[in-house]
Amino acid sequence: MNAVAARAALPPGAVLGVMGGGQLGAMFAMAARRMGYRVESISDVADCPAARHCDRVHVVAFDDAAALAGIARGLDVVTFEFENVPVEAARALESIVPVRPAPQVLFTTQDRVREKAFLVANGLACAPHRVVRSRADLLAAVADLGLPAVLKTAAFGYDGKGQVRIAAAGEVDAAWDALGPRELVFEGWVDFDCEISVVAARGLDGSIAVFEPSRNAHRRHILDVASAPAMLPEPVLDAARRTTATVLEKLGVVGVACVEFFVTRDGRVLVNEIAPRPHNSGHLTIDACETSQFEQQVRAVCGLPLGSTRQRTPAAMANLLGDCWAHGEPDWPAALAVPGVSLLLYGKSDPRPGRKMGHLTAQAATVGEAIANATRARELACRAGVPGGR
Ligand code: AMP
Repeated sequence: MNAVAARAALPPGAVLGVMGGGQLGAMFAMAARRMGYRVESISDVADCPAARHCDRVHVVAFDDAAALAGIARGLDVVTFEFENVPVEAARALESIVPVRPAPQVLFTTQDRVREKAFLVANGLACAPHRVVRSRADLLAAVADLGLPAVLKTAAFGYDGKGQVRIAAAGEVDAAWDALGPRELVFEGWVDFDCEISVVAARGLDGSIAVFEPSRNAHRRHILDVASAPAMLPEPVLDAARRTTATVLEKLGVVGVACVEFFVTRDGRVLVNEIAPRPHNSGHLTIDACETSQFEQQVRAVCGLPLGSTRQRTPAAMANLLGDCWAHGEPDWPAALAVPGVSLLLYGKSDPRPGRKMGHLTAQAATVGEAIANATRARELACRAGVPGGR
């Protein structure tokens, strides 16, 4: 592809490939098809949430470079919906078709050691940390940074998986036995005031659009409720927005990314994690913003102008985990009777505990009211199954 073609916008009708078949791919496909694009998912499983919303699902082993190249020939651009896509698979596609964000962005962000090195190299604040490759390294890190702390696997961690909190010296050996021997990151425990995240997009022309930071509450390490505005002092929000824009620029992201932060009690923002894709905390943008994070992803990867990120109303999103199905089918009419509440289900058939099945978004006059309504709607839905429901 020549330089002019590489910069040209892909008009509706073009074929967009998305690596991965989860709910983020499904919501990307919904946004893209609404705009007239054709969407093809590249997934290692056939029965995935994106399948219902895509024009086609290519079921392929991610280590089959020849099959990936064959698929790439039918696509105009490729993006991804989860960051644990093997970099080699993304590179196999990139040899044929633009991949946005580039595989190099995946390479940096899917490994905590590389991600932390990127942050440090660019002067972006994060938790104090040490790379740990042996029990001796771990003991040295404990001596250096102290306890409590958290030990994390460098690769393939999400939603608190691959993490062990170490509260006291007597727990150090058990933490190593649980996660070692492999590359780990030891992080000093951040006594944070709250956690926030910022979703942003960067276009092909380098323009950046940042969504309102959202405040995130977790339960059992999984995002529980996200709300925006985050109700923090403007300098704190501004530091988070500026840091996010710097992350996208320095990584050279073309697409959407999310930066998660700890906000310390003295008002500093420390980067916790970077996800080079739309994020669970950004789902409220679907209902509450002029452009959703998924439409923004379509615009960015297609080389279109980025949309307005203005949030129309305060909003809160409550995740629906499989636990909500414990008593049968949730009571959706009760949830949807709560003012300003909308429902998005991902079409997953097996509601296992802890599995993200969908979410409820509430829009209201104040963010406090939005949080109250989203959580109330969820309580009503999940409290009792509907008689006769599955
Ligand atoms: P992560 O997978 O790194 O996003 O961690 C999952 C959750 O664990 C975070 O959202 C925090 O609530 C908590 N956590 C992780 N690292 C730290 C830390 N260094 N200090 C305090 N809490 C942490």
